[in-house]
Amino acid sequence: MSGPADALVAEVMTTGTLTGLPQGHYIGGRFVPGLSGNTMESFDPGRGRAFARFAAGDAADVDAAVAAARTALCGPWRQMGPAERGRILARAASLLRERAARFAVVESLDSGKRLTEAEGDLRGVARAFEYYAGAADKLHGDSLPLGRNYVGFTTEEPIGVAAQIIPWNYPLSTVARGIAPALAAGCTVVAKPAEQTPFTALMLAELLHEAGLPDGVLNVVTGTGAQAGAPLVAHPGIDHITFTGSVATGTAVMRAAAQHVTRLVLELGGKSPLVVLADCDMDAAVNGVIEAIYENAGQICSAGSRLVLDRAIAVAFMSRLTTRVKGLRIGHGLTNPDLGPVNSLRQLETIDGHVRRAVAAGNRVYAGAAIAKPEAGGSGWFYEPTIIEARGADDPLVQEEIFGPVLAVQIVDGADEALAAANATSYALVAGIYSKNITDALRFARDVDAGQVFINEWFAGGIEVPFGGNRKSGFGREKGMAGLRSYCKLKSVVARI
Ligand code: ADP
Repeated sequence: MSGPADALVAEVMTTGTLTGLPQGHYIGGRFVPGLSGNTMESFDPGRGRAFARFAAGDAADVDAAVAAARTALCGPWRQMGPAERGRILARAASLLRERAARFAVVESLDSGKRLTEAEGDLRGVARAFEYYAGAADKLHGDSLPLGRNYVGFTTEEPIGVAAQIIPWNYPLSTVARGIAPALAAGCTVVAKPAEQTPFTALMLAELLHEAGLPDGVLNVVTGTGAQAGAPLVAHPGIDHITFTGSVATGTAVMRAAAQHVTRLVLELGGKSPLVVLADCDMDAAVNGVIEAIYENAGQICSAGSRLVLDRAIAVAFMSRLTTRVKGLRIGHGLTNPDLGPVNSLRQLETIDGHVRRAVAAGNRVYAGAAIAKPEAGGSGWFYEPTIIEARGADDPLVQEEIFGPVLAVQIVDGADEALAAANATSYALVAGIYSKNITDALRFARDVDAGQVFINEWFAGGIEVPFGGNRKSGFGREKGMAGLRSYCKLKSVVARI
């Protein structure tokens, strides 16, 4: 191993934790202890052991954070022009690049993801701040053609206080893709990271204040969904919610938002199809499948969790894919294996439950299908990279999001059947196709129901590309200029002259 993360990784590996982790909530421009004094543990998924404690916030902490955000909305933040807001975000981007190693190690330790993935996340997070830094002073309205006797125009105003409810799979990336556009638009923010992964959001809040953010503009309250998340989304002092998480919790959040008619963006689950047609570049497609389902141990809402494979190449393709998958090395995220642990014991049991039901139903298993015990894994939470063939379109393996390293295979005959299979779940987040025939690929892109379509590279794109789903995958868009508009309210002004 070599590089700036080395000393930090060595510290974790020898002591089981890291010194200097943030303590308390971040409210009003500083770290403050939780009002109840209660704390809870965060776990290293690679060892299955707690490595630090953090504040278990509740409604009182949420009240304090929302009050700070509301006050900040009317303070120096309001007076600051868009260009100055952009400069703060740009400074944050360069500070993130300077401190990427520490952020990445904490992210890997807290979530379990491989360090190289966490380092990639950090590059993406810095890009998000850079992108929205450049967008802050380009957010303009339209002039409206009403004839000679009127002047009409629209303006994009900040929506107000934006709440961010963050999941545990991409703790920093998800909070950043919400915070950066919210701040660029002139909003203030209260973020609630997942109770499994609280630390990098707190570190980001501190860094943004160092970059020049006025007090109270960004607040982070840690704690459980029930104790801290629920009072935040039901709070009358917030104007918008961005929620990323499960369909069940998203439904509860939508219900809570309805009480005060609070606007929201919901980014929920997926069961995204990765279509491989007979004329594909097979090496690229095998690599694509492996990345699509084993990156972050499959705990990605936009994972390619269904391989929709053309029968004409099925035998050869499955043979290559299975050989590669059986060779994947499992280990602690900070040791940079091919596959890290899953985030929690609960998640491990959920994954195992899905797979056991499929195996009991007689589905063909190509690889994995068991809890893994890597030599150096100790008591960590690992699952073998798994490939299972589905039994028809109604198979729970096809319909249910597993959120783990489990690939469902659906064999089809040709492009039309592939499209029908792709569209036959209640989710519609992303979809992908591998084919050298650009007409087939673009027809698939036209006809598939998805918020984003990848052609010949799963996860192609970056912060520039709007992201979000349809149907049970949610609604609204993050990232890109569409993501910026999610934090704005449009005002139309017409003058008679
Ligand atoms: P998971 O079940 O995998 O933990 P969730 O969708 O429940 O996924 O969690 C995503 C985020 O939503 C987390 O930050 C969690 O604390 C939060 N959360 C859970 N329940 C609620 C709720 N009722 N209201 C608001 N946030 C919640």
